[in-house]
Amino acid sequence: MVPIRVRVLLSLLLGLALLSACSVGPNFIVKDEPRLTDEERACLASDTVHETGFIHTRAALGGPSVCGAVQPFVMSAADHGRVLLKPAALLRCPMIPQVDRWVVNVIEPAARRSYGASLAEITVLGSYACRPINNVSGGYLSEHGRANALDISAFTLTDGTRITVKRGWHGDARQRAFLHAVHDGACAQFSTVLGPDYNALHHDHFHVDLAYRGPNGLRTVCK
Ligand SMILES: [Zn+2]
Repeated sequence: MVPIRVRVLLSLLLGLALLSACSVGPNFIVKDEPRLTDEERACLASDTVHETGFIHTRAALGGPSVCGAVQPFVMSAADHGRVLLKPAALLRCPMIPQVDRWVVNVIEPAARRSYGASLAEITVLGSYACRPINNVSGGYLSEHGRANALDISAFTLTDGTRITVKRGWHGDARQRAFLHAVHDGACAQFSTVLGPDYNALHHDHFHVDLAYRGPNGLRTVCK
């Protein structure tokens, strides 16, 4: 028989544990999006993404179960390992070929056109994060929470030139031409592209993601 005072103490402790579990729990709304998982499984089955010296699988991303991906990857370079992503990005399968195409078909040609140099490195501001959109508590889960988004803040070229979104978006003509080409070209690779013209939160980076939009998944946002 457990003494009454011990039982009171135990129930108090249990109450406190539950309370704290609630206060650290996810503070976002999760829209059920089975089509995203279907797309991810199709990507994994298609064998488009292989483990290489710069693309590794990762067992799990942690955090509450609604976040993460079936099979997350760590991507530390694009274009066959030539262009570094620093720090490495945590992404779901469908994002990897799109990032690669963006680098090869858009960013590299833009760097050649504007600077006569090649792209060497991309500065990653963020990728996987289990959080609501714009970190606004009570909002919808961000695509970052599904490892389906990437934030980029700067580009470094082989000649050492570094172009940041923060300074370059309203910088000199060359910086503006390069960054606008990179931004606009991203819209052909991703379903969402947001830059400094979208809002103040994006003044220093480009956000790209593969959110499933519209009834057939074909609606895009390019701002
Ligand atoms: Zn973002």
